[in-house]
Amino acid sequence: MNTQRTPFVGSNWKMNTNAQEGFALIDAIGGLMQDGGVDVAVFPPFPYLMGIGERIKGGILLGAQDIWHNGNGAFTGEVSAEMLNDCGVNTVLTGHSERRHVIGESDELVNLKTKRVLESGLTAVLCIGELLEEREAGETDAVNERQIRAGLAGISEEQLGKVVLAYEPVWAIGTGKTATPEDAQNAHAAIRALICGMYSPAAGGAMRIIYGGSMKPSNAGELMAMTDVDGGLIGGASLKADDFYGIIEAARGSLVG
Ligand code: PEP
Repeated sequence: MNTQRTPFVGSNWKMNTNAQEGFALIDAIGGLMQDGGVDVAVFPPFPYLMGIGERIKGGILLGAQDIWHNGNGAFTGEVSAEMLNDCGVNTVLTGHSERRHVIGESDELVNLKTKRVLESGLTAVLCIGELLEEREAGETDAVNERQIRAGLAGISEEQLGKVVLAYEPVWAIGTGKTATPEDAQNAHAAIRALICGMYSPAAGGAMRIIYGGSMKPSNAGELMAMTDVDGGLIGGASLKADDFYGIIEAARGSLVG
C-alpha cells in the first residue's frame, strides 16, 4: 500500500443477517474500532440501513449495496439517492459482480448508477473484475479496462475524487480462492496506469484501488502490502466482527509496515 492514500475497507453484508444479527454485528465492530488511518464502511441490506445508521459509531461510514439512477418516481422496488441520503448513507456500491452476473446489469446501467451516486454527493465504490474463463483466456486487463471505461464514462476528474475502484475477480468472490498478491498487484497496477492515461497521473496516483475476493485476516496483510492494493471489499469474512476487524488492522499495519 502506498501511504499517500488512505486505505478503504468495506464490509458487504449482501443479502445476509436479520435485524438482530445486523445490530449485533455493527455493535461489535463499533466496539472494536480505534481511531484513524483507515476509512471503514459497512453495506447492510436496505431494510436495515436506518437502524444500523442509528447504532453506527467509531467513524464507520454507512454504505448501500445498490441505487437506482433516477430520482423518486414510478420505479417499483427501487431505492433512490434521495432515500439513501435520508438514511445517512455516505457510500454506494456499483457494478458488484453479483449485480452484473446474477442480476444482469450492463456496463451502461452501472455507469448510470455510478453517475447518479456522484451527482448526489455520495462516494461510489465501482466494482470490476473478470470471470474465470476470461482470466484463463488472458483477458483480465482487457475486461477491467472495458468495465472501467464504460463505468466512468462522462465522469469528470473532479468527480473521480469520490470514486473507489474495487478489483474483484469474479472467480474469487465467495469461493475461498484468492488472487495471489502478485496477481492482484499486476491487475491493480494496470488499472492505475489506465486511470493515469484516461485522466491524469495525479488522478491515477490518488485513486484508491481495493481488492475483493475471499479476503480474510490471514491473507489481508500480504495483499495490502502490495504497492497498488489500497484496502479491501469483504463479503463472507466481514460477517464476523473479529475477522473484519482483523482485516482493518491489516490495512492499518500496511501503512506502518
Ligand atoms: C464481495 O462480496 O465483494 C466479496 C469480495 O465477497 P467475499 O469476500 O465473500 O469473497
